[in-house]
Amino acid sequence: MVKRKFKWFHIALLAGAVLILLFAFTWCKMAIRRELQTQIQENLKDVASQNVLAFEADIRDKQNLLVGMAEEVKGVMEEGHRDVINMLEPFTETYQFKRIGVVYENGIAYTTDGYMRNLSFREFFKQAMRGNFYITGPVDDTLGDEEKITIFSTPVYGANPDEIMGALFATYQTKKFQEVINIDSFGGEGYNYIIEKDGTVIAGSPHSTLRIKSNILTYMEELDSKNQKSTDELQKEMESGKTGSIVLKLDDDNYVYYMPIHYSFNNEPCYMLTIVPKQVLMNRISPVLRYVNILLLTIAVVILVTAFVYIYTYQKGRIKLLQLAYTDSLTKSDNYACFELKLEEKKGVSGYLISIDFSEFKIVNNTCGVEKGDEAILNVWLILRKAIRLDELAARISADNFILFLEEENQEVLTERLCRITDMIAQLSVELNIPRLSPYFGIYFMKGTESLEVAYSCANEAKHLVKGRHDTNYAFYDEVDFQQIMERKELEDRFESALENCEFEVWYQPKYSADKVKAEIVGAEALIRWRKPDGSLIPPFKFIPLFEKNGLISRLDEYVFRAVCEQQKEWEHAGKGLLPISVNISRASLYYSNVVEKYKNILAEYAIEAKYVPLEITESATIDNMEIRGLIDEFHAAGFPLLLDDFGNGYSSLATLNVMHFDILKLDKSLVDHIGDENGEKLLYYTIKLAKSLGMQITAEGVEHQEQVIFLQNLKCNDIQGFFFSKPLPLDEYQRQFVI
Ligand code: C2E
Ligand code: MG
Ligand code: MG
Repeated sequence: MVKRKFKWFHIALLAGAVLILLFAFTWCKMAIRRELQTQIQENLKDVASQNVLAFEADIRDKQNLLVGMAEEVKGVMEEGHRDVINMLEPFTETYQFKRIGVVYENGIAYTTDGYMRNLSFREFFKQAMRGNFYITGPVDDTLGDEEKITIFSTPVYGANPDEIMGALFATYQTKKFQEVINIDSFGGEGYNYIIEKDGTVIAGSPHSTLRIKSNILTYMEELDSKNQKSTDELQKEMESGKTGSIVLKLDDDNYVYYMPIHYSFNNEPCYMLTIVPKQVLMNRISPVLRYVNILLLTIAVVILVTAFVYIYTYQKGRIKLLQLAYTDSLTKSDNYACFELKLEEKKGVSGYLISIDFSEFKIVNNTCGVEKGDEAILNVWLILRKAIRLDELAARISADNFILFLEEENQEVLTERLCRITDMIAQLSVELNIPRLSPYFGIYFMKGTESLEVAYSCANEAKHLVKGRHDTNYAFYDEVDFQQIMERKELEDRFESALENCEFEVWYQPKYSADKVKAEIVGAEALIRWRKPDGSLIPPFKFIPLFEKNGLISRLDEYVFRAVCEQQKEWEHAGKGLLPISVNISRASLYYSNVVEKYKNILAEYAIEAKYVPLEITESATIDNMEIRGLIDEFHAAGFPLLLDDFGNGYSSLATLNVMHFDILKLDKSLVDHIGDENGEKLLYYTIKLAKSLGMQITAEGVEHQEQVIFLQNLKCNDIQGFFFSKPLPLDEYQRQFVI
């Protein structure tokens, strides 16, 4: 689920990045394109300006020439037209005029190509006579071959500058303007037109492909109706004498740059149009755009590949981390964190949360090895996985602890399922040839609203109820005694202060010889009691198991041992006869390092012989801890007599007697209680016989009745401890009765 969420997050992130990149690159491209187009427009403007300048320079040359000639002509005009024509003739060819002519005041014109005509009606004459330099638009050459010509005219002044003697005119083949404006622009792809502002063409580049009859605006409108808007705009711009560019559709889109010319034809302002197919301009920017595209694409690819590689490695690392975080190292399946996550997805679903533990799983590890223990755990896991339905959850928490969430409605069905699991696990012990695996279950019903942490601790509370029980292996949280939990908590909290305030008292229970003639005290067992400040006594079964769990027991055991040593020393000083006072050592205390060393040091501190403080170690400890053999040897070497306590209370194993070298076997009350029934008595008989054959002495505890005493005496039991002789006594009482 986490992976899925993560995947979608990255897909969204990548998609977002791609979108942003696309947007950024498109914007970037558009900006570059816009900038390039502006550059091209500028370029177009430059080209158009050059064209206009070239054309204006040509006209200016012609004007200067004509005005200069007029200056010359006025001197010879009086002398007759022949002299004038003779003078003008050489200029005609030199300046590429078709003809040059002079018009006398009366309107009679004489030309260099031999014509004499009355041109008094012609506008160029009239304008010259008004003192104007005048250029006609393209007109038909009525004198010659009817080709289009343009006539330049200028007044010829007399001696008196107010007096105009006539006009001088030069006729120019309009087509020759083509050469003037035929400036190579845009690699020959651009062309120019000189037009009057109504669109009438005066001249155009010879290589133009446009087939304009006379008016370029009409032509363009006819070519494509879409041009209408642009031509209207162009006309308007020209009316206002403006400069600029528009796009017109010819065979394709064309940029048209319009620029006014500072000379009028027919007294009308005219314009230079520089036309370039849009494609030509685009071709110029397209290599740049192509490079930009390649560059942007490369950047995009680099960014995306980097992002992808980053996400991929990041995701790989994260998946690895997730796997580590959510996978149990042994089962390679769900762990607590994963369980919690999956349970969260089930928010609102009710069901039973079950905490599973195993009684004495350590035995498997200690007797069969850790590898076998791991194999057992793995197989238990497989059984649990098989036992749950698809929508149910299971996880290994740690060591031999598991957790289940079963969506079961009915308690009975649930317990049946747990029984089946128990059976399968028992069967597994047989198959793996390992000590019997006994699971026990703490069950909490989740309504679907509580946190796993709370529910799990409740299930664990319930689990404690069945730990060590033989009649059942499951308990529901409802059965938990909260009073007891509070009490336990209080005891834990008060341990330190109790130790400081000497609230722990050592009581003594005498042990008697099982002598038929005269039973005599042979020693005692030190038993702890907790006297609360209010004077009440807390018996050991209420706090010993608790302190065994939290580790405080080792300090308590040491405390009792020290107290007994001190007491023995005191009696010794007082000249009393010393009897061995055995001290209990919990198996939990044995797990602490240097335990033997510690006890030896205390002995040395009080200068007490070890034989006066035998140690009682429970049998379960011997099964639990294979290292106990080493410890037993060490304790022996230090001189401590060792008693195997509580033999027969459920963990009994005759086999251990052979392995562990205890000095005294303490028969548990549960065994002694069997005295009276045949099988029990047989068991006692063989146990004592075996222990004796191994060189052990026998102490029976929990002896309450005379028949038990007699039976034990008959079996040659060595010592007897029990209420029959004496209950555990406070120090004063014990001293009073037994310390002589
Ligand atoms: P245990 O070492 O087996 O001690 C014998 C227990 O049996 C004592 O219970 C004693 O009072 C009881 N008992 C003896 N004779 C009779 C009898 O005839 N009838 C009945 N009903 N009970 C009898 P106690 O003092 O309550 O101690 C219980 C257990 O607490 C001890 O069992 C021992 O395992 C543990 N314990 C007591 N003191 C210490 C201690 O200083 N350190 C550790 N680690 N455990 C201790
Ligand atoms: Mg004991
Ligand atoms: Mg005992």
